[in-house]
Amino acid sequence: MTAPIGLLALQGDFERHRQALSALGAPCRLVRSPAELAGCAGLVLPGGESTTMTRLLDLSELRGPVREFAGRRPVLGTCAGLILLASRLVDEAPGHGVAPLGLLDCAVLRNGYGRQIDSFEQDVVLTPLDGSPAPFPAVFIRAPRIVATGPGCEIVARYGDEPVGVRQGRLLGLAFHPELVGDRRVHAAFLALCAEV
Ligand code: GLN
Repeated sequence: MTAPIGLLALQGDFERHRQALSALGAPCRLVRSPAELAGCAGLVLPGGESTTMTRLLDLSELRGPVREFAGRRPVLGTCAGLILLASRLVDEAPGHGVAPLGLLDCAVLRNGYGRQIDSFEQDVVLTPLDGSPAPFPAVFIRAPRIVATGPGCEIVARYGDEPVGVRQGRLLGLAFHPELVGDRRVHAAFLALCAEV
């Protein structure tokens, strides 16, 4: 693959995604403008703060281009990135300022596992994503909870009975942070998607 993977670099944990993808040999490009998005093979929406990302997405005039991009190329959203991808937020009091892109047919509850001090690491089942039976060490940091999935959404990661990762075609959303651990299976699966399209 020669086209770079774009990393939405407005706020949040994009640098660790860059390291993970680079370790797998993928060229990366930080995306802060529509021009930087053009020509990317795929896009990562990192974890961070979805209120801030909403504001910066609109200020940088990337909302429309990201939606258009997701219609034809793979997008991986992790944690706050999953919130941005989701079609619906279920919890929020008015005024929180998060406006999801509405691309992935699922409903999420922000901070659904508790506050920052309730962050945790937990092995999750990732088998539907890459076929491997090995558990994946998932880091949850004020993570969103996936509370409903639409018919188009396949559950690709589970924590007990709970979905913590969903896929709809070329769109992949995870409640946890795969970029923070040494296990590169999520990024490898995403690169495989990017190579397919
Ligand atoms: N709780 C954050 C939000 O609502 C997401 C946290 C994260 O990305 N680690 O945006």
